[in-house]
Amino acid sequence: MPGALTLTRVAHATTLLDFSGELILTDPWFSEKPGYYHGEPLGVRRQDLPRLTGVAGSHGHYDHFDMADFAAYPDKNVPFAVKSGMARAAHEAGFHQVTELEPWQTAMFGNVKVTATPAKHGVPENCYVLEKDGATVFFGGDTLLIPELRKVARRFPSIDLALLPVNGLQIRPMFNRQVVMNAKEAAELCAILRPRVAVPTHYAFTAGPIRDRLLLKYTGTADEFAREAARRAPETTVRILPPGEPLAIHPTG
Ligand SMILES: [Zn+2]
Repeated sequence: MPGALTLTRVAHATTLLDFSGELILTDPWFSEKPGYYHGEPLGVRRQDLPRLTGVAGSHGHYDHFDMADFAAYPDKNVPFAVKSGMARAAHEAGFHQVTELEPWQTAMFGNVKVTATPAKHGVPENCYVLEKDGATVFFGGDTLLIPELRKVARRFPSIDLALLPVNGLQIRPMFNRQVVMNAKEAAELCAILRPRVAVPTHYAFTAGPIRDRLLLKYTGTADEFAREAARRAPETTVRILPPGEPLAIHPTG
């Protein structure tokens, strides 16, 4: 039987994945600053984090890799997997076991295997697949939908849970350049990956009223993702998860 798997969304792309007692944190972002607001309450405060088995960082943007705050996490030997180029910031925050990964390279967090996958964003990024005892999770960071993500479906044909960004973030001063997949594209990725359960992430963020008007544009919501996924990937169950509310996933064998 596959091991138990429970997801708790913290906020934005920060999630806690419990693989039968081994806890993995994705994209730590706990502290706000001007221009960076969660837009939703934190499901878990940093000081209330359980002992982690590993941390996966998709890319170096503040709202995914807040090392200034995460430096206060006490276990500096927790294994960290990051995209190439990010290790230095993690080392400077005091973490000793940092591994830079490129797509298809792997690392172990205890008994949880981490595989980096292709991703595309405004800066270099990884998505990750996390596996233990037949339970498989795809963590989508805040990537765009790119053809290379089809390879994830080929290599990981049985995904239990996909965490997919949906806000379709666009940068106004760059001719509305899109840097994150939108709800329709996330639904399309569901049709490609065919996860049993999909949970949208990356949709409550706000830069504040002025910056949102001048700099950023959000073109996807969690509800839109649920509607689109029901149409394009009817075999996937979508759960819009309030921060802090655990969702037990029962993986298939
Ligand atoms: Zn980003």
